[in-house]
Amino acid sequence: LISNKELLNQQERRESNARSYPRRIPLAISEAEGLYVTDMEGNKYLDCLAGAGTLALGHNHPAVIEAMEQVIRDKRPLHTLDLTTPVKEEFVNELFSTLPEGFRDRAKIQFCGPTGGDAIEAALKLVKTATGRQSILTFQGGYHGATHGTMAISGNLGPKKNVQGLIPDTHFLPYPYSYRCPFGKGGEESHRISSQYIENLLDDPESGILPPAAMIFETVQGEGGSIPAPIEWIQEMRRITKERGIPLIIDEVQTGIGRTGKLFSFEHAGIVPDVFVLSKAIGGSLPLSVVIYDRDLDAWEPGAHIGTFRGNQMAMAAGTATLKFIKENDLVAHADEMGQRLLRALKDIQREFPEIGDVRGRGLMVGVEIVDSTLPQSSIGSLPANSELASQIQRECFKRGLILEVGGRHGAVVRFLPPLIITKEQVDEVIAIFKEAVFASIV
Ligand code: PMP
Repeated sequence: LISNKELLNQQERRESNARSYPRRIPLAISEAEGLYVTDMEGNKYLDCLAGAGTLALGHNHPAVIEAMEQVIRDKRPLHTLDLTTPVKEEFVNELFSTLPEGFRDRAKIQFCGPTGGDAIEAALKLVKTATGRQSILTFQGGYHGATHGTMAISGNLGPKKNVQGLIPDTHFLPYPYSYRCPFGKGGEESHRISSQYIENLLDDPESGILPPAAMIFETVQGEGGSIPAPIEWIQEMRRITKERGIPLIIDEVQTGIGRTGKLFSFEHAGIVPDVFVLSKAIGGSLPLSVVIYDRDLDAWEPGAHIGTFRGNQMAMAAGTATLKFIKENDLVAHADEMGQRLLRALKDIQREFPEIGDVRGRGLMVGVEIVDSTLPQSSIGSLPANSELASQIQRECFKRGLILEVGGRHGAVVRFLPPLIITKEQVDEVIAIFKEAVFASIV
């Protein structure tokens, strides 16, 4: 039998230098079930990375496995381009049944390549085609993918700095990140200033912003550090874009399918965007992505968006099973409840450790920002980010059998993205390990 170390070393020798997760999570996974993965030597880990928020039902959920086996038993075609199939019809019916009333009848669906980035690309092409405009309004700290177009509209500079010629005319606006408010204000004032500022940029031609083809954001920035935008701010962005005829794209790649305690995160604000993008959980752990949009934007000519892998039947069957399971078991409400439990416990831990600067989240998209408490505070009370300590906490969690992600603009946010099926007992286990890990990292 091959050991963890041997397998890790073998793969590291041949894999691209761009590989990411194995660098931080030195794990060779042999098997997986539910919230747990097992390594080559039989050690079990609680997985709160869960495919970067992909695994709504955890690993290898029986409902997903059964749906995939059914595809095989029924001799359904495994590859169909975007041709018509009963599996696709069932998937579209199930997905459309979840759309907000009023939008359901206006909605169109575009199947995209397998990744979230593919669908964001498609959304950008869609709004550019529909409006004939070219500029895009996006947000600092946002993440939308790793292709040229999606990298161009993502905030993080690391991967961008060595790639020239990304799409021009991309305007980055300040995201309402209350712990590090870009306007130096806290609380409600911060997001009010943010929306006034954005409104002014759009209305004053001297800002140099041409009428944009779209505004795009995540309602909770994921890779940016689990940062929920205030609900009122989301509503303001909807008002501002609607009044000016700017299509609003919500990137639901990470927030979608129950993760934030609503099936789609925009539902928290009671708004409907013109376009939203789903991937990750929608494929029930297999690769699938779609754009859902208002039919008024459907100005595409036939063949305007093509691609070979835009109809993965297995992924659609797994996605249908995931949506059904979520609905039948009220997992959206459960995710909300578990998220609140996690958040409450983390806030309790925060009171004991000045190194925890901020605890925040919406549903099961939770982040803990690690800071350097020996340095002076900013005018709004935030402390400088401490990425080294965040990585140390991640390592100490890993040693104790808990897999967590570290992200955020300064690499200092420990992120919790457990499957929606997490139980109370498992939340408590996560908390206990995390607390021990923080203690071990500090003392
Ligand atoms: N948008 C968001 C909000 C994401 O979190 C991600 C992936 N982390 C993407 C887009 C890109 O998805 P993919 O990695 O599948 O291209």
